[in-house]
Amino acid sequence: MIEEPVRKRVLLANPRGYCAGVDRAVQTVEEALNLYGAPIYVRKQIVHNKHVVATLERRGAIFVEENAEVPEGATVVFSAHGVAPEVHEQAKARQLRAIDATCPLVTKVHQEAKRFAADDYDILLIGHEGHEEVIGTAGEAPAHVQLVDGPDGVDKVTVRDPAKVVWLSQTTLSVDETLETVERLKVRLPLLQSPPSDDICYATQNRQQVVKQIAPDCDVLIVVGSRNSSNSVRLVEVALDAGARASYLVDYASEIDDAWLAGAATVGVTSGASVPEDLVDQLLDHLVERGFEDVSEVTTVDERLAFSLPQELKRDMKAAA
Ligand code: SF4
Repeated sequence: MIEEPVRKRVLLANPRGYCAGVDRAVQTVEEALNLYGAPIYVRKQIVHNKHVVATLERRGAIFVEENAEVPEGATVVFSAHGVAPEVHEQAKARQLRAIDATCPLVTKVHQEAKRFAADDYDILLIGHEGHEEVIGTAGEAPAHVQLVDGPDGVDKVTVRDPAKVVWLSQTTLSVDETLETVERLKVRLPLLQSPPSDDICYATQNRQQVVKQIAPDCDVLIVVGSRNSSNSVRLVEVALDAGARASYLVDYASEIDDAWLAGAATVGVTSGASVPEDLVDQLLDHLVERGFEDVSEVTTVDERLAFSLPQELKRDMKAAA
């Protein structure tokens, strides 16, 4: 009997890659370099992607951990993940020209934290300990915020008044795991209030939704993204939960081990919200070289959201025009 050759194909997830908040943050650094000239200091990685950071470094961006490393009077950009109010105060004290590239959807969560704290609520912030976004949001109301790091963190929660508790969340979590955490919290705190609108952002939800759709058909699902990118790491977890036989996170196509593709007929491809499309193109070229020439894009939603640049930058760009 003659064996049929395996038909190798790629299912390419759409939406994938850059979200509106990342696009704005990267453009902010680029425009600041154009307007003020190098160096431009950036507090923390502007977005959690190795390649993006290295590209901006080549153009003259200097990445630092804290404002104290920025020379007095220099320009500093705050990353898309947001900062606590004290970071703005430190910048003022050092007379830095601060440009805030916090994603507007993260700012929305900051506003919610401030509002509920002003009403003296206990705020249960669902998120990952140590993540910059969580540090920034908690910094808006440290006396009122408790971190709940997934369903296992629920038992540690203590509140002053069970009738005055609200949950908020990091924007880049797994939708399903967050629902599980909230359900567990509600068992302990039946009067727990929900945020006025979803904190998990549209881009996180859309990228997870399309991965859920293609994962059951994939022998392997490859996510392009960096290890410190929360939303990219979640995509691997979502792929495995939804039925992909294997899933891997890579920064670059060159990290793919040929053994992952051995015997695979269908490879799924997606990328995190901080990943430029040229890295996906390189991955697709890599797969073509290994016989995966048939690429079908699976689209679940048409994303069109865009955010305008930070006001302080737009003002200076207008003045210089
Ligand atoms: Fe904003 Fe969502 Fe993108 Fe984060 S992932 S930068 S919250 S749009």
